[in-house]
Amino acid sequence: MADQMETNDYENGWKFLEELTENGHRIQEQVLEEILMRNAGTEYLSRFLHGQTDKQLFKNNVPIVTYEDIKPYIDRIANGETSNILLADPISEFIQSSGTSGGQPKLIPMTAENFEKKTLELTLVDPIVKRYFDGLEKGKTMSLFFVKKGSETPSGLTVRTLSSCYFMSDSFKKSAPKICTSPIETILCLDHKQSMYCQLLTGLLRRDHVVSISSIFGSVLARSIKFLEDHWNELCSNIRTGCLSDWITDPGCRNAVSLILTRPNPELADTIEHICGNESWEGIIKKLWPEAKYINSVITGTMSQYISLLDFYGGGVPLVSPSYGSSESTFGINLNPLSNPYDVSYTFLPNMAYFEFLPVDKDGGEKAQESDFDGVSSQWSSEITNANGNVGPVDFANVKLGQYYEVVVTTFTGLYRYRVGDVLKLTGFHNNSPQFQFVERQNTVLSIDMDKTSEADLLKAIGNAKRHLEPLGFMLMTFSSYAETSSIPGRYVLFWELKFKESTRCLKLDAKIMEQCCSIVEESLDFTYKSLREANKIAALELRVVKHGTFDALMDFYVSKGASINQYKTPCCIKSEEAVKVLNSGVVEKFFSPKTFFLS
Ligand code: AMP
Repeated sequence: MADQMETNDYENGWKFLEELTENGHRIQEQVLEEILMRNAGTEYLSRFLHGQTDKQLFKNNVPIVTYEDIKPYIDRIANGETSNILLADPISEFIQSSGTSGGQPKLIPMTAENFEKKTLELTLVDPIVKRYFDGLEKGKTMSLFFVKKGSETPSGLTVRTLSSCYFMSDSFKKSAPKICTSPIETILCLDHKQSMYCQLLTGLLRRDHVVSISSIFGSVLARSIKFLEDHWNELCSNIRTGCLSDWITDPGCRNAVSLILTRPNPELADTIEHICGNESWEGIIKKLWPEAKYINSVITGTMSQYISLLDFYGGGVPLVSPSYGSSESTFGINLNPLSNPYDVSYTFLPNMAYFEFLPVDKDGGEKAQESDFDGVSSQWSSEITNANGNVGPVDFANVKLGQYYEVVVTTFTGLYRYRVGDVLKLTGFHNNSPQFQFVERQNTVLSIDMDKTSEADLLKAIGNAKRHLEPLGFMLMTFSSYAETSSIPGRYVLFWELKFKESTRCLKLDAKIMEQCCSIVEESLDFTYKSLREANKIAALELRVVKHGTFDALMDFYVSKGASINQYKTPCCIKSEEAVKVLNSGVVEKFFSPKTFFLS
């Protein structure tokens, strides 16, 4: 297939993308054929196909499933049974999904061949950004990449996150010195604090060569900037003296940094000190890395909460959200890097897996009347194939503009008609491949009584309150929420980490303004919420402001539970009591919505 191309050839890269998207429908059919040819004989598919490879039979007989349905097979393989109960090709390892957005971490099979396919997606982003930004080949990216220690299944198969798998691969190790300012040893260092410090230090030492800044998700970049705020004095002192801080004990980091930090450089230290010592950090990225053409981080979905923050720090450096994928499969890439970060669509790549799309509708008449987010609201119902096969998922060729879908994937690695749990909206086509906007994860909802508030609803409501705060000089760094149901009626609690735009001003909150924020959030929620509030079945929304660093502690908590810092997504709402405790330990002030009338 066409994916054998020389991936570092940019012109060919673009031609390849055009060819892929023009032939989207045909390639999708080929992909399904190939998956069935290889895997029809597995124990799993035999139950439904009896060894046949017919595509229609697949669509009629193979059920649409969630992770729970295939977990027994995964567990059997993890415990030593042969992997061909699920897929014909040998499993090279298990990929561990982040589990912070969707609940429990999942183990997804990976094969050597599929790993190559996944890395291809990363190289496809290059020809796209090169079309929009000149001079990228003259410099490097300041990466903020991390790896996480892997584990093993009882049968001895390695379990790693996808990003760790990629950063530890030979191909990345070979290309890293050419593309990143961070030495590979600093990326591979398992101590995240040492790793982040050294990646920032080498990025500062090579600041004139930095043409882009890159982290997988926007949250990591936001955290790195906070880290820089706490450590710039020390970083400057290292640059001034030419000596690396003693607490960097990782031998790989020390050796690699010592090859770059070769002499005292007081001029550079003065310049950086001057920039970082400024009262406002507005535009700090542009000031520290003046040649940076763009910031490369996923900022859609739950990451959209970081857009205004990264815009503030970026000082006009465009935010590019490059791709949409998961541990299960790569889905699409952003062909229009300069699009508004709130409006990014991803073009699906037809060679990555076989994609189907379950139309999703809102469930509940009242919500339908009241939705204020382009028709999306918090309750989704997916239409799954009925016995007659009348209603069901549609394929690449039959998706409709403006419709919302849940993506269902059939992969080369043992997932058949698997619900990913993401809701997408079809916004257009590139050639014959659909382009989707990410809407939300389906299962992330706050819920009390009859109300279900979705991630998208919550993001929008908080976005409205944030706009009220911004003219007053506040920035909402990050937020989360939970449903407090220990008292009756229960209420939604928001946790906000705030900061003044001028870093030296200390945070003094005006109770009236904060209460107004609570009211704005409540007003922005849907009809069901408002009626339940009016009927006193949900109590007044509470806003808990937490001190600087509390959300770092939350990230550390999830990382200690097995999440990877690269794939970490601050959960919009929290179900874990332990995680709520972490946030509660940082609370400095509490406010309640004074609002009592909603529907008049
Ligand atoms: P993981 O498997 O842990 O990497 O998590 C994958 C999930 O992250 C996806 O199913 C999405 O919910 C989310 N995700 C990944 N890429 C994006 C993106 N570009 N925009 C929004 N959400 C994303």
